Amino acid sequence: MKEHPERLGKDLLEDLKGESSDVVREVKTRLEQSKLREILLDGKNSNDCKLCGNTFSKEFLVAAHIKPRRICEEEERLDPNVAMLLCKFGCDELFERGYLVVDDHGRILENKKSDDIVPMSYAKMLKGKACRGWSSGKSSKYFVVHREHHEQARSRA
Ligand SMILES: [Zn+2]
Repeated sequence: MKEHPERLGKDLLEDLKGESSDVVREVKTRLEQSKLREILLDGKNSNDCKLCGNTFSKEFLVAAHIKPRRICEEEERLDPNVAMLLCKFGCDELFERGYLVVDDHGRILENKKSDDIVPMSYAKMLKGKACRGWSSGKSSKYFVVHREHHEQARSRA
């Protein structure tokens, strides 16, 4: 049986009535995430990772929030520019954890140091490349927040 994703989402939310707010929040987050990914994939079965630039089939791509989702305003969560497609082969992890940030010209910068050799050499490989998810006036403001968020985290450490 095939169900329309939106319809499925509605039924799911209906079924959740009476569940704790944590459960509802979790499901809403997942629905929002899959919707966002659908928008970013734009009906394609493969796409390029916005950091490394390699092309992957969609199963290896995630919708990664540029501005961390938990600090997004409600309307920012609905803005497709708040996220970008990243591969599961390292880019998503390194961006999410703040090892890589993007400057005001859309260039990838290294941000953190670690003793882990493989992640660090991966980060080094991407350093200085253009981030394909960066767009002036659109996603650029979210990259500023991401960078400042992780620079602060670093100075606290
Ligand atoms: Zn990648």
